[in-house]
Amino acid sequence: MSLVVQKYGGTSVADPERIRSVADHVARTSRQGNEVLVVVSAMGKETDDLIRLSGEVSRVRPGREMDMLITAGERKATALLVMALHDLGVDAASYTGSQAGIITDSTHTKAKILEIRGDRLRAALTAGKVPVVGGAQGMSADDRDVTFLGRGGSDTTAVALAHALGGDACELYTDVSGVFTADPRIVPTARRLQRVSYEEMLEMCASGCPKPEMRSVEFARTWKVPLHVRSSFTWEPGTWIREEDPTMEQAIISGVVADSSEAKVTVTGVPDRPGIAARLFRALADNHVNVDMIVQNVSVHGSTDISFTVPKDDLDAGLRVTAAMRDEIGGSDVLADREIARVSLIGAGMKTHPGIAAKMFETLADEGVNIDMISTSPIRISCVVRAHQIDEAVQSLHHAFGLER
Ligand code: ASP
Ligand code: MG
Repeated sequence: MSLVVQKYGGTSVADPERIRSVADHVARTSRQGNEVLVVVSAMGKETDDLIRLSGEVSRVRPGREMDMLITAGERKATALLVMALHDLGVDAASYTGSQAGIITDSTHTKAKILEIRGDRLRAALTAGKVPVVGGAQGMSADDRDVTFLGRGGSDTTAVALAHALGGDACELYTDVSGVFTADPRIVPTARRLQRVSYEEMLEMCASGCPKPEMRSVEFARTWKVPLHVRSSFTWEPGTWIREEDPTMEQAIISGVVADSSEAKVTVTGVPDRPGIAARLFRALADNHVNVDMIVQNVSVHGSTDISFTVPKDDLDAGLRVTAAMRDEIGGSDVLADREIARVSLIGAGMKTHPGIAAKMFETLADEGVNIDMISTSPIRISCVVRAHQIDEAVQSLHHAFGLER
């Protein structure tokens, strides 16, 4: 018998009708002779609503109480889904993260999983039950408090349980039918990928692809859990995320990803000496500013410019820290640029195919898109461009690399 772990996101269980439809699918999977373990997110936008509600009540919002509040969303969804399963004659039982034996550290609002004591779920499966576990939650080892794994954390719960219980696959059900060569809202001819490697998916996540949650893909890669991203609206087969198959030729390019969530900070005229970048980025790190791309220019007459990107939410903090450091490190100006976006080309095949960067830059040049910053990994090339040109950049690259249907 194989064990299938199915995770249903918020839109998949947004209302009673959706919950019943999910229950149908779980029942079908179980009647096909599989063991099924289900992980659910909170219904619809409930997590956002609970966070908003807390802001209307409190300015302090203590982490311990935030976690107690937020995890109530998933708990509610588990009980409702189990009731719908009972209506279909499927023996099922709901579990909070704590009851499921998911042990975490005490970092409230973004706890890390330390250990999974799967015996209770294992016993339920052996007794022929379908366990339904609340996503993104656990219990802290030290204080035995309820903890929340962070936004999107249900994917991580599902992958961790699949690993701990020896699941054959982990299905992530959502409102899109898989991972695409580009966002279909920007490129209508974008194609669903049948499979993509963990490495490529991680680069896509880091480049702005919103789903699945990056941490869950990292876990899946470490533990070699195959992931299947698919739709709970059409139930059609989606995209498999798994190890590269050495017997199959790799697509050169798998996708184009856009990210408009970052802004750029530049500090000009800093001395080109050892320790300058170290001091600036240490100060940024100590102030929890999450820095992404960094570019330092060639120095002219002993001074240079340093630019870096940060999430737009971190821009004010980034500017404050950089301005405060300017005198200490000896820079002239600190500039902010919100009107940037990043386009990334991802593909395992670029490791062995020369000319991908040249073709990318030529394509952007032909579109009249100026490149502001460039960064690369062995399987990714990213360019920062003007925000208003990002759609053209994605469309032209998608076409130039022949990614359409
Ligand atoms: N409901 C939580 C969130 O919206 C956890 C999850 O869906 O993964 O972030
Ligand atoms: Mg969600």
